[in-house]
Amino acid sequence: KPLVFSGVQPTGNLHLGNYLGAIRKFVALQEDNDCIYCVVDLHALTAQLVHEDMRNQIRSIAAAFIASGIDPKKHIVFNQSAVPQHSELAWIFNCVARIGWMERMTQFKDKTGGKNAEQVSLGLLAYPSLMAADILVYRATHVPVGDDQKQHLELTRDIAQKFNIDFGGHIRKAGTGVDIVVGEEPVHAYFPMVEPLIGGPAPRVMSLRDGTKKMSKSDASDLSRINLLDDADTISKKIRKAKTDPDALPSEVEGLKGRPEAENLVGIYAALSDKSKADILAEFGGQQFSVFKPALVDLAVNVLSPITDEMRRLMDDTSHIDAILRDGGERARARAEKTMKEVRDIIGFVQ
Ligand code: ATP
Ligand code: MG
Repeated sequence: KPLVFSGVQPTGNLHLGNYLGAIRKFVALQEDNDCIYCVVDLHALTAQLVHEDMRNQIRSIAAAFIASGIDPKKHIVFNQSAVPQHSELAWIFNCVARIGWMERMTQFKDKTGGKNAEQVSLGLLAYPSLMAADILVYRATHVPVGDDQKQHLELTRDIAQKFNIDFGGHIRKAGTGVDIVVGEEPVHAYFPMVEPLIGGPAPRVMSLRDGTKKMSKSDASDLSRINLLDDADTISKKIRKAKTDPDALPSEVEGLKGRPEAENLVGIYAALSDKSKADILAEFGGQQFSVFKPALVDLAVNVLSPITDEMRRLMDDTSHIDAILRDGGERARARAEKTMKEVRDIIGFVQ
């Protein structure tokens, strides 16, 4: 079975973008794959070092995984810091990757815009190197993420490829590699070339306040996102206040061009109802937002409320979630250590 890995940072309230872009795909992939889903708590230190409530933040991401339908017995759910092999491999990748690769990342530029180097952690620059380690420490091949992570996954492939080339002779000698084809070239590789799984109708959900910015946990405005823990009244208020333009909805997808807010709301409706944007416009074309928004509120509440209720129930008594994370951590550690033993051997460390 293909091995799937993905992670979510415990940096704030999970929102509809995380759900549609990532978690819902995690759930769907369980059927045909071996899946490892991680609360990437080490990543949460990159933008902000000290967190008021880190423990519960971690638990709430794990609760969202479980409440959405991830089976922690058949698959693995754990938090990153429980498996120190991620950090160990990240260090090696820090030495494989080049500073220029990291400086080119648009997320790094977005998250550091207007700040000088004295204010930015070295961890934020190296973030994609830890992300590559998260994935490759299991030698995972498929990574479901939102569209915003595409560039980081390309970097993961670059890091894997440079490791495979730099250590080519050592990999052969250690007898641990496999033959893969990169482009046309057959390569004897240790790390696989990961495949991003980005598709779906809502690969990038935009902010409700600004249709050109992605919905984010770390956006200062709570009105910019629908949180998985929002109640029906809050969802209704946020959608009613969502920025729109004054025109009616078009009847064809073409008509959404240049109307980012309208496109976003139609995209959210489509994703939540498992239909295409064209289907939604066939239904609502010509209607005003005063008609469309209440329909979107009903749909969002219907889809999200069972998840919200289950998340709250799981968070009432944290012992269940903690046990899932502990068990997942143990199983993940065993797998990651198997890779690290081979990596240490390839590099030539005495162990
Ligand atoms: P932060 O602002 O702290 O970076 P975030 O909202 O970007 O938080 P992450 O934990 O960085 O959330 O990402 C978790 C997953 O959710 C990733 O797969 C990411 O691609 C996906 N994701 C995040 N935001 C969106 C969005 N607006 N639309 C679709 N997918 C998203
Ligand atoms: Mg993010």
